[in-house]
Amino acid sequence: MKVENKLLRDPTIVDYLQNVAGEEGLIIVRALRGKKEATDEQLAEKTGLKLNVVRRTLYKLYENRLAAYRRIRKKDSGWLTYIWHLDLFNAIYQLNSQKENVIGQLRKQLEFEKQHEILFVCASNNGAEGDCSRLPFTTAFEHNFTCPNCGGALTQQDNIRSVRALERQIKRLEGEKRGK
Ligand SMILES: [Zn+2]
Repeated sequence: MKVENKLLRDPTIVDYLQNVAGEEGLIIVRALRGKKEATDEQLAEKTGLKLNVVRRTLYKLYENRLAAYRRIRKKDSGWLTYIWHLDLFNAIYQLNSQKENVIGQLRKQLEFEKQHEILFVCASNNGAEGDCSRLPFTTAFEHNFTCPNCGGALTQQDNIRSVRALERQIKRLEGEKRGK
């Protein structure tokens, strides 16, 4: 249970849980923390959330493999009862794989920037209009240094700052990965 407490002090994990299962998700996770297991009814009682909200939230956690259940059949009624527990380790795994994706994208962009140290950028595009992309020399040359998107004049841009910024971003994300 100590590991769960540690995870729930981690703002990245808390953000992730909130994205996946909302504010109620955090409430449920905190209620389940430190307990081995609980039923939806026990959780509703403990948190003050409505039973259907508790169930919906547990299901969201379950879909993201952050909670799991076992079923028991009540002897008297024959009804099935679901008993829930947390499985937060998957949050680390999910977070890491999300970060891996972003890092992959950034690395591709970095490769591009490094291969094209001088890029041409459309003068009418100050970042607000996304369709005028930056172009390597050969493409700019082919288009006679006018923007193929809007016809504006292309100007040369030194991209060393983009390279440095990308490298910093990648390094930061690598550092944020868990369980390495
Ligand atoms: Zn343009």
